[in-house]
Formats: sequence, structure tokens, C-alpha cells
Amino acid sequence: MKKNLNQKLINLIEYYNLVNANFLLSNTPLNRMSESKLYNFSGTKSEKLSKLKKKIYLIKNCDLKKNAKQLVFANGNINPKIMIVGEGPGANEDLEGKPFVGRAGKLLDKMLNSIQLDRKQTYITNVVNYRPPSNRKPTEQEIERYLPFLKSHVEIINPKILLLLGSTALNALVGDEEIISKARGKWFQKEIGSSKPWIIASFHPAFLMRQPEQKKLAWIDLKMIREKLRKI
Ligand code: URA
Repeated sequence: MKKNLNQKLINLIEYYNLVNANFLLSNTPLNRMSESKLYNFSGTKSEKLSKLKKKIYLIKNCDLKKNAKQLVFANGNINPKIMIVGEGPGANEDLEGKPFVGRAGKLLDKMLNSIQLDRKQTYITNVVNYRPPSNRKPTEQEIERYLPFLKSHVEIINPKILLLLGSTALNALVGDEEIISKARGKWFQKEIGSSKPWIIASFHPAFLMRQPEQKKLAWIDLKMIREKLRKI
């Protein structure tokens, strides 16, 4: 009986993580994509990225920044075919200042390798650039605040493919009504500033570590990416 109850609780927590509980519990109407602005930086791609990084570095009155060790901006090839967006830095990322260097990053590497991709060929960032305390999900307000940075980031990188890992990235860039288990494994195009990448969502590697039986679906998504990469 007690075991049953525990399992129910675990399932409930997984469900809330999957659909993004912050959104479910919020009363504020959201319309992020139409409202949030992008920054217009001048210069070469590297210069624009440096300016964006500095802008994030200088963010004021942000609890994420206050509690984090350092900014985790991005990593990888600045001229990639594929850009990957996760949720936010964890403890290892906070220590090293690079995204996806912990256990989830190791699985991400394996996933990329399985379709003959090296992470060095990709460009990786997160929805928020400072570690949320205790690895909690970023709040709606935090996501809102970092969204102009993220959208500008996508515009500057201008990838052919944008891979959104997990519900936070999906909800931030595509819409709050999207549910990762339904939205994953489908291609669509969307304008993000002047960029119009092919977008696909898939499960976050941290979720796959908790629910390995979902890896077969992630494998379908990866094969779709492999196919798309062959065509573009
Ligand atoms: N999880 C994320 O979403 N991003 C990271 O950088 C690491 C773990």
C-alpha cells in the first residue's frame, strides 16, 4: 500500500516535470513569443555573441545569478547545422561554466554520437544561463526574463536545425500549451527573429536517465535529425 502511494507520488512528480508545473500553477496569462523582444547587436558573429554574453553577465536583480557560481553561456561550433537548447545549468555546469558537462551531458554525447554527430559540430545553450538553486526548474518569470537572450542567441547562431531538449525549452520557444510527450518527434519551422530554423523537440537527457524506457522514442527523434541533416 505504502509502496503504491510512493509510486503514485513519483508518477505525479514526473508528470508535473513533463508538463512544466510552473506553468500549470501560474495565474498569469502568457504570450511569450509575440511579446519578448530581441537584441540587435552589431559586428561579426563572434562579436555579437560576446555582446550577448556581456548583456547576460550584467543582468541585475536576478536571483539565479545571485545564487550561481558563474554564467553558463554556451559551447560548441558557432557555425553549426544544429543548435541544442536545454533547460538550465546544473551543479557541474555551474562549476565548469559550460553547458551539459555532467551526467546528462554524457548521455547527450552518446545520443549525438549515435547519429554520427560530435558535440563539437553542434552549438549548445540553455533557456537560462545561471544555475537554478537545487536544480529546480526555472520559474515563468525567470524564463520570461531570459527569453530575449535566448531568442537573440538563436538569431545570431542562425542554425538550420534547432533541437529543444525537454519541456522548458519547448514551452519557452514554441508555446506554453505544448506538451513534450505530444510535441516531440515533429518537424516544424518557426521564425525566431530573422532566423527560421527547422525545429524538433525531444526528451531531455536527464528525463531519459529517470525514464530509460522512453529512450526508444528519443531514438526515433534522433533518426529524424539524422535524416534532416542528410537533406539540408
Ligand atoms: N541540463 C540542462 O538542461 N542543461 C545543462 O547544461 C545541463 C543539464
